[in-house]
Amino acid sequence: MNKLALYCRIGFEKETAAEITEKAAEKGVFGFARVNNDSGYVIFECYQEGEADRLAREIPFNQLIFARQMIVISDLLENLPPTDRITPIIEEYNRLGSLVNLHRTTELFVETADTNEAKELSVFCRKFTVPLRQALKKQGYLAFKEVKKSGLTLHIFFVKPNCCYVGYSYNNNHSPNFMGILRLKFPPQAPSRSTLKLHEAILTFLSPEEERKRMNESMYGVDLGACPGGWTYQLVKRGLFVYAVDHGKMAASLHDTGRIDHCPEDGFKFQPPKRSKIDWLVCDMVEQPIRIAALIAKWLVNEWCRETIFNLKLPMKKRYAEVQNCLQLITNELDKAGFKYHIQAKHLYHDREEITVHISVKK
Ligand code: SAM
Repeated sequence: MNKLALYCRIGFEKETAAEITEKAAEKGVFGFARVNNDSGYVIFECYQEGEADRLAREIPFNQLIFARQMIVISDLLENLPPTDRITPIIEEYNRLGSLVNLHRTTELFVETADTNEAKELSVFCRKFTVPLRQALKKQGYLAFKEVKKSGLTLHIFFVKPNCCYVGYSYNNNHSPNFMGILRLKFPPQAPSRSTLKLHEAILTFLSPEEERKRMNESMYGVDLGACPGGWTYQLVKRGLFVYAVDHGKMAASLHDTGRIDHCPEDGFKFQPPKRSKIDWLVCDMVEQPIRIAALIAKWLVNEWCRETIFNLKLPMKKRYAEVQNCLQLITNELDKAGFKYHIQAKHLYHDREEITVHISVKK
């Protein structure tokens, strides 16, 4: 049990591998990442037994940008008999049970990578979940009813119909979502599909209570690169008044709310109207990520806003290094100016060649 599986968006395996290798090394854990391009996952093999479990507990999952999920896994179970795949899986869990307390398990996910090829396999996984869950329950698994957060989730990760990894994740340090994916329904009133990115970002970065407190009718937002208005829609829906900055056209439905002021200006030159206190800055402009990072740092250091969610559009090459540069630029500026801050970046399900960052600051 010395391996981690990390799910990611197809095409981002290298970034996921670079990130886990770096974070593991920070914990004094060394190993190597197996990368299969376009597979939608990375296996990180630690050199020492037990270290994968330690990483799954100690690397804060919310600090990982590219991993959608982090699970401790067994060796690959191969040649599972089609007539009885359940017995070898249970045997594997019984064996693992001597290493970790698997009787604190709350949930079962039978998963695949998020690729087109795995779509058929995921149909099988759905059907297989019910009999496997029943069999596991008979063995005393999945019965932990105390504080859910202190339990574990069982993951079966199928790579082929007769091949799977058997694993688990810690509920207080994982994505609670099946396959690490937060699926959202597109609201038909929203002016663009981009709206789902900001919706997912809000659900990822803020708890429901934080969202209620920090996004409401008494607040003001600025949306840089706002047109046609998918992000503005999310803010207006939560009661904010929004300055929507873009030379393009905003959806008429947003003008009708009376809760926006469309400013046809350059987002790099726009400044908040005098005497108005901006709570939120959001930004989805398609621009070089380092220019966006510098702009965000300027807004925060000048105290033009208290909190921000923005996208960094990633270049084709050296994406991980570019992300690090951008985040470093912002944190350097905030440190220099003596701010306390919380920063989190995530490659969201609704993001494509981009990541989303949330920062809140206090002087
Ligand atoms: N978030 C929007 C939504 O949900 O509908 C979509 C934004 S779209 C990806 C990018 C927008 O950034 C475009 O409308 C473009 O006009 C705007 N943009 C790009 N550079 C800009 C700049 N320098 N100033 C203002 N807007 C800019």
